[in-house]
Amino acid sequence: HYDTFNIINLMKEKISNRVLNMLRLLGTYGTEFGVPVYVVGGFVRDLLLGVENLDIDLVVEGNGNEFGKYVADQLKIKYLSHEAFGTCSLFFKDGFKLDIATARTEYYEEPAKLPKVEISTIKKDLYRRDFSINAMAIKLNPEKFGLLLDFFGCKKDLDNGIIRALYSLSFVEDPTRILRAIRFEQRFNFKIDENTLDYMERTIENNYLEKVTGTRLREEIEKIIKEKSPINGIKRLGKLKIISHLFPYTYYTPTLENEIIKMFAFYDLLNKENKKYIENTNKFYILLYVILQYTSIDVLEFIRVKYGLPKNFVEKLVDVKNVFNKINKEDIKFSEIYELTKKFNNEQIIFLASKISDKMREHFYKYLKKLSNIKLPLNGKDLKKMGYVRNEIGIKLDELTKIELDK
Ligand code: ATP
Repeated sequence: HYDTFNIINLMKEKISNRVLNMLRLLGTYGTEFGVPVYVVGGFVRDLLLGVENLDIDLVVEGNGNEFGKYVADQLKIKYLSHEAFGTCSLFFKDGFKLDIATARTEYYEEPAKLPKVEISTIKKDLYRRDFSINAMAIKLNPEKFGLLLDFFGCKKDLDNGIIRALYSLSFVEDPTRILRAIRFEQRFNFKIDENTLDYMERTIENNYLEKVTGTRLREEIEKIIKEKSPINGIKRLGKLKIISHLFPYTYYTPTLENEIIKMFAFYDLLNKENKKYIENTNKFYILLYVILQYTSIDVLEFIRVKYGLPKNFVEKLVDVKNVFNKINKEDIKFSEIYELTKKFNNEQIIFLASKISDKMREHFYKYLKKLSNIKLPLNGKDLKKMGYVRNEIGIKLDELTKIELDK
């Protein structure tokens, strides 16, 4: 027994004609090819919430790769198969991308490892998903177009704003779902169901996050910080003690929280007022500089390797720590700030800003602004013509910069 609703009217109202026509066409191809076709997951959730989502995931009961190939041949578009996962992607001429999977059940042989995949039906496919709000499907074949499949009370959870795992071992099987729960909770301002929170907490306490590869954890952490107010997600990670399970011997304290808040605020300020300092920065690295500043060097090296951080990550972190005390003087001259920070990249600059007093941060901001607008009377080429050689040029340019900064 399950609930079905026909949501064709909602689809007509919320989905652009172009996407709606494409979904209809995919359903028609499904019937031609002889397979049931569904759109699933985040797209369905967002449709019911009235939020636009251009990430379309299809599931077919049958061979997803062969169906994908069939569609690509009909439409004469690019087809890419991901053999190992039994999925494929289609690339439309206007840049639109579609993922197609075979309905499947996943068997976890060992907790936190990637699962073995078996062919299955749509219901089982939906059951292995992370949360009820992400476990609905809409049928696309013409005879049933717009039929919403809700096997697990998903729509009710969505209406009530509840994040619910579909079974008690969900987090043990895939601990990254702990981070996903927090992301969706913050994004939609939903509540994690009481039992679900209980399963989560037990999975955290029993060190299951430690079994997941750094790459998979990093992907989910990066998604949390891409959300609108990343600080809320981070606070939640702290409150649930997840920080210590992601980064050994690292503790979430009020001081740290305060520094993370300052870091995000400074990041947002630069992003709004002086984008030059945001270009090519990696927000994940900046966050880790702040979180890991109190962690010892040998542990840092383990964390660096685990999360695939650059070789010089620890060195760059230490270089910033070495100037904390030197820079925190309110009467410091711009030329002195320049001397202390001239080798820093933008990630280090933003980390440093989280460590200085509010008054000093204003001063530091003015310094950055002046530095980014500076016009020197001579450039490197001029100096070369005047007979300066390689490192002399650098030294001279530094001198000129400092003079301009203090003007
Ligand atoms: P977003 O709006 O952030 O893209 P999404 O729900 O589309 O959210 P994706 O990470 O793109 O998130 O995943 C697509 C769908 O795949 C999800 O809706 C969910 O059904 C399923 N899914 C993704 N990751 C997991 C996971 N770790 N465990 C179970 N199901 C997952």
